[in-house]
Amino acid sequence: MKEMGIDNKVVIITGASSGIGRETALGCAKEGASMMLVARDKNRLQQLAQQIRKTAGVADIFPADVTDDAAMKKMVSRTIKQFGGIDILVNAAGIIANGTIENTSLKDWDYMMNLNLRAVFHLMQLTLPSLIRRRGNIVNVSSVTGLRAFPGVLAYCVSKAGLDQLTRCAALELAPKGVRINAVNPGVTRTELHRRGGMDENAYQAFLEHSQTTHPIGRVGEAKEIADLIIFLISPHAGWITGVTYSVDGGRAQTCAR
Ligand code: NDP
Repeated sequence: MKEMGIDNKVVIITGASSGIGRETALGCAKEGASMMLVARDKNRLQQLAQQIRKTAGVADIFPADVTDDAAMKKMVSRTIKQFGGIDILVNAAGIIANGTIENTSLKDWDYMMNLNLRAVFHLMQLTLPSLIRRRGNIVNVSSVTGLRAFPGVLAYCVSKAGLDQLTRCAALELAPKGVRINAVNPGVTRTELHRRGGMDENAYQAFLEHSQTTHPIGRVGEAKEIADLIIFLISPHAGWITGVTYSVDGGRAQTCAR
């Protein structure tokens, strides 16, 4: 049964090949949305689109790097041509990398900012004409690291803090035009993010175990728990919510060392 009021809405989801983006796509499919799925891994996108179509869902894929400006322009044009417009943008593509103020290279800093922040800014700009016409909305996938400081992942934290402020500023600018913009700020969530960021399997398992103690609810999150919040925020049920950076983190953002 469709309950969220997003059936027939056109949704672009970046980072759809894995983790939070993928779960969001599966959730949107159940709710009857039409989707353009974006990430670099074509095979994974194809498999996901096939899975969605098997249950009568509507999904097309656009395999590309979100930092490729020309490709993103094409992706937005193709979405509009194919589906008639865009109602919702979910920016879930992102990476994490270790590094401190002392050892983060300018190259690594630039890559983090380009992917986690500049690409989101660019996609927001590209989709806005359609979103304004259709009184749509955006959800950016930020992190607890946008709201709180953590050592050892400096550029990642700064990119997510920038994303939070981008969300708030754009929300104020676009509210009079009927467009809502929000962010979700997950705590540690079981996806591929940390292993792609350089943790081997042993280090990842140890990190997950340790994370049980750093999250007050006593466990890490699952991608579906983040997707459920994203789907609420993109839906008309959240029609009076804009400019929020919404923690979904088992209480992590409320903690202080003691
Ligand atoms: P995953 O690694 O499982 O998924 C990341 C997604 O981003 C993949 O679909 C990947 O696809 C895509 N992606 C990465 N780089 C690019 C690129 N250059 N161009 C296009 N797509 C790209 O991690 P999560 O699902 O956890 O990550 C989703 C978001 O959630 C990220 O923004 C992350 O920062 C945030 N987050 C995650 C937390 C966690 O603990 N997991 C906690 C807080 C926030 P592909 O490789 O096919 O391009």
